Amino acid sequence: MGGGDYSVPVGKIVYTQFLNDRAGIEADVTITRLTELAYLVVTPSATRPADQVWLERHVGDFNVVITDVTAGEAVLAVMGPNSRALLEKVRSHSRITLIEEQIAVDLLMVKGTIPNWPGNKNERCVGAYVMVGEKVEAYRAKITVLCSGGVGKVYLYTTNPDIATGDGMAMAFRAGAELSNMEFVQFHPTCLYHPQEKNFLISEAVRGEGGILIDGNGVAFMEKYDKRKDLATRDTVARAIDKELKESGADCVYLDISHKEKSFLQERFPTIFNKCLSHGIDISEVPIPVVPAAHYMCGGVKTDDNGCTTIPGLIALGETASTGLHGGNRLASNSLLEAVVFAERASGYCEKLWPSIANASIPEVDSWKSGDARDLLEEILINHNWDAIRRVMWNYVGIVRSVKRLELAKVRMEAIFKEIDQHYHDYHITPNMIELRNIALISLLIIQSAQQRKESRGLHYLVDYTGTNEEIVQTVFTRKRNGQKWKIEPIKGEQ
Ligand SMILES: Cc1cc2nc3c(=O)[nH]c(=O)nc-3n(C[C@H](O)[C@H](O)[C@H](O)COP(=O)(O)OP(=O)(O)OC[C@H]3O[C@@H](n4cnc5c(N)ncnc54)[C@H](O)[C@@H]3O)c2cc1C
Repeated sequence: MGGGDYSVPVGKIVYTQFLNDRAGIEADVTITRLTELAYLVVTPSATRPADQVWLERHVGDFNVVITDVTAGEAVLAVMGPNSRALLEKVRSHSRITLIEEQIAVDLLMVKGTIPNWPGNKNERCVGAYVMVGEKVEAYRAKITVLCSGGVGKVYLYTTNPDIATGDGMAMAFRAGAELSNMEFVQFHPTCLYHPQEKNFLISEAVRGEGGILIDGNGVAFMEKYDKRKDLATRDTVARAIDKELKESGADCVYLDISHKEKSFLQERFPTIFNKCLSHGIDISEVPIPVVPAAHYMCGGVKTDDNGCTTIPGLIALGETASTGLHGGNRLASNSLLEAVVFAERASGYCEKLWPSIANASIPEVDSWKSGDARDLLEEILINHNWDAIRRVMWNYVGIVRSVKRLELAKVRMEAIFKEIDQHYHDYHITPNMIELRNIALISLLIIQSAQQRKESRGLHYLVDYTGTNEEIVQTVFTRKRNGQKWKIEPIKGEQ
């Protein structure tokens, strides 16, 4: 039924997938062995209806009880009928202040440390500069948590929302934190290719149901790349599509599921069916145009097992963090580990730390200085570079990389970065400029990390070095101050 080994001791949890008889993934599940003969299977609320139907169809003679807990209670994803009540509770809690529509710019750093913080340094974080309307204010805090998501917007095509500009990683790096494994960017193989759609995912379950990838001439191509054909893993399929596109010069390939009954497709993939139809694509009649797209950053701000970064007072959680849970690759659905498990651990750590910092005052910090900055009147200066960065990253630092392309990318990105840095000092900052500055820095870090790794491993595929080295080495970067400037400095030999 599933891909995992459930013959574990009672009490152990197995994260795995339900597979169909062609080994395609049907559902992401977490299975706990309750007793010798009983298992608890948990599936996420977002995919509950489809997972439940599949489970019901396959229970056979087993004694199975299915409960939809999301219908009766608020859930972590803040979905379901009670989610509003949960948010209201958070909002009205006397010790929680929700601040929305403000953008963090940089971290507040002062001299000093926090006793017992792992990897103590001479500087610690005491909050962040935050853009409030057109002003920048200093928000001071004893502990600061970065959880600003991923970096997908660095690439031309991405499944990520617009906020995924690596802000937390860039802020942490500028403050002197270590970042690791930035070359490991996961690409989802099939994102809808349509001028009006920026990031709509065509689920891998479509291939699981028999969807076949074809080129512009209608020829299936996965057989050339993997004996599992269209059911090969995410990274293999993404690389195959990338190769097809680079060789043919085409804008997209196609995913054909039109051999299935319309009624089946409507029931099995209602969202995909309707979204495609809204663009005039009836997937029961014609193939779906798809491209691979940047999906998940496995690297990020380096943390220990409690989410603590190398800067005292600074914690990183979620996709922003590099906890070590993902290596050079990742399975679907394990982002919850970095978001939820580490949030729990970090709060436990802070609780223990609290008695030693509760009564300490937070030092004053300099207010934000705009200097001689003036208003930026030509938005083209920003927009041009957004486009340039995302194209360079897509074409030179994408799914398949080469030493030559990485070198070219570095030269171009350094020039773009310098220009943006100059704008940043010359003009009043705007959210658009803040994010642009961040994607430029993150791009440089991805490029330099990729250049360090002279092998192919997981999501990093280098045509000049297709083998995998025996020694496992992390790429860790930190910034080195040089007067007012900083430079990117690799830390060698990190395990
Ligand atoms: C289409 C899609 C499908 C996915 N499917 C799955 C799946 O099935 N299973 C799975 O495990 N994972 C999946 N993922 C990955 C997973 O959703 C993300 O990794 C996860 O949501 C990241 O959570 P996060 O809390 O770290 O960041 P986010 O949920 O991205 O939250 C970041 C928050 O920080 C805010 N922010 C960003 N920058 C700033 C700033 N400068 N100042 C202030 N606020 C800021 C943002 O507005 C946002 O609210 C999917 C991702 C996508 C895009």
